[in-house]
Amino acid sequence: MAEAYDPGNIFAKILRGEIPSHRVYEDDAVVAFMDVMPQGMGHTLVVPKAPSRNMLDADPATLGPLFGVAQKVAVAVKKAFNADGVTLMQFNEPASGQTVYHLHVHVVPRFEGVPLKPHSGQMEKPEVLAANAVKIRAALGG
Ligand code: AMP
Repeated sequence: MAEAYDPGNIFAKILRGEIPSHRVYEDDAVVAFMDVMPQGMGHTLVVPKAPSRNMLDADPATLGPLFGVAQKVAVAVKKAFNADGVTLMQFNEPASGQTVYHLHVHVVPRFEGVPLKPHSGQMEKPEVLAANAVKIRAALGG
């Protein structure tokens, strides 16, 4: 049986405003913010407000709004960084590489010949995250 959702996870704290994030998008159901250990320039996380550990226990009604915003963010990061492509990733449970147990989708701009950096690797400087967030917000038109 799947483990229970833990409301003390770091994304739940970000959603409640208890810890800061570089937000690029928010609506009634979904928030998007910069990944602090980006696997590439502009790596953004798209997070539903509804609680679930991952795709395995999510209410299917959560997924439409989540992937709708993931698509918007994918288009925006491609434009913001003049990227050649965009990778979307989503992990479920530790064996898959999941490290934060609140459902989320990774959106990573990609450039020809540039490999992804390691998952949960190095912290990016806050000023770099802030500058990238400004570009994505502009590309989202907000
Ligand atoms: P996953 O392994 O799919 O659960 O991804 C979790 C992601 O959250 C990783 O890419 C981390 O770099 C990122 N992360 C961890 N803590 C924070 C935080 N406080 N703010 C933004 N991103 C975070």
